[in-house]
Amino acid sequence: MNFQKHIANHVRDLPRSGIRDFFEIVQSMKEVISLGIGEPDFNTPWHIREAAIYGLERGHTGYTSNLGLPVLRERISTYVARHFGVAYDPKSEIIVTVGVSEAIDLALRALLNPGDEVLYHEPCYVSYSPSIVLAHGIPVAVPTRSEENFTLTAEALARKITPASRVLMLNFPCNPTGATQNKAELEKIAQLCIAHDLIVLTDEIYSELTYDSATHTSIASIPGMRERTIFLHGFSKAFAMTGFRVGYACAPAPLTEAMMKIHQYAILCANTMAQDAAIEALEHGERDVDLMRKEYEMRRNFIVRSLNDLGLECFKPMGAFYVFPNISSTGLSSREFSLGLLEKKQVACVPGTAFGPSGEGFIRCSYATGLEQIKIAMERMAEFVAESSRKH
Ligand code: PLP
Repeated sequence: MNFQKHIANHVRDLPRSGIRDFFEIVQSMKEVISLGIGEPDFNTPWHIREAAIYGLERGHTGYTSNLGLPVLRERISTYVARHFGVAYDPKSEIIVTVGVSEAIDLALRALLNPGDEVLYHEPCYVSYSPSIVLAHGIPVAVPTRSEENFTLTAEALARKITPASRVLMLNFPCNPTGATQNKAELEKIAQLCIAHDLIVLTDEIYSELTYDSATHTSIASIPGMRERTIFLHGFSKAFAMTGFRVGYACAPAPLTEAMMKIHQYAILCANTMAQDAAIEALEHGERDVDLMRKEYEMRRNFIVRSLNDLGLECFKPMGAFYVFPNISSTGLSSREFSLGLLEKKQVACVPGTAFGPSGEGFIRCSYATGLEQIKIAMERMAEFVAESSRKH
């Protein structure tokens, strides 16, 4: 049977994720220290897990409303207003989703007609470009540069806008670079979006993980932007709840309604026990987030210093739990470096190119791993760099 003939062209032609390929190699090896994982090493705080268990005990095992539990939407509304300065009506402007992943898919499918262009800054989260293609849009990457600490400048964005541009995707703090965006530049970007009538999808999943007392600004809070922004957030990173699969999208009612139509037919509703846990996270989980943030910040300080000391230039990112050092001084490509480090020293990092071609010359190291492991990984990386430099 010719299966390929039966698979939709745009799915058949989609490349597999570079991260997945890489981690298949990692899984086949023993004793690897992984700086490759994009999920917290902390367990979900116990009281949040308990809320899910208690939900089960009370027989909360049915469907919820398509938009999600009303109490959860109210808590989300309060949380988003308090932390991001934007008010959304819990009845009509918030939809609870299966992680931010589903929210991205819903938003793109709700907004795009075939051939519409979607701009995003690159290096970026691995799913952006494929999600755009799956929604029949055209991905348009705006490369960001290490010289500018991987921020998106309005100038670089303006160069890529065409009459077919419809949507801009933002992700600050950024996976994989850890970059954050200052308010002044966001205001310039907002002006461009208004001038070119773009809708913005802003993925703020790492916003609580912002360090050095830096303040995080959401583009949705900039005057004129609430009406043209879909704000995406979730519980996976800050609350260490990746496996619960809960996220949400906030947007003006007509956009929420459009996303809801897809969600109600494709998904029905997010997992009910996970929604119970999410209520608990928003009601009582902020102290846990603070403790995890402090630990991440300490690890970030250590890893940035270590990488720079061993000659891999690395700016100090202000957010998320990733660093993105420049490895080009070793003379190796991102893939050669990552594979060599894995095979010779059993340390896994992700090649920068997994996040788009502009990631060449860099690797992503996650510090969502215990400090002791990070210390050993840095010692092994120092040996690897010394051995590679002798060869070149
Ligand atoms: N957005 C970004 C930028 C991410 O890094 C990730 C996960 O790594 C996601 C979305 C997916 O999040 P969720 O677990 O909420 O689906």
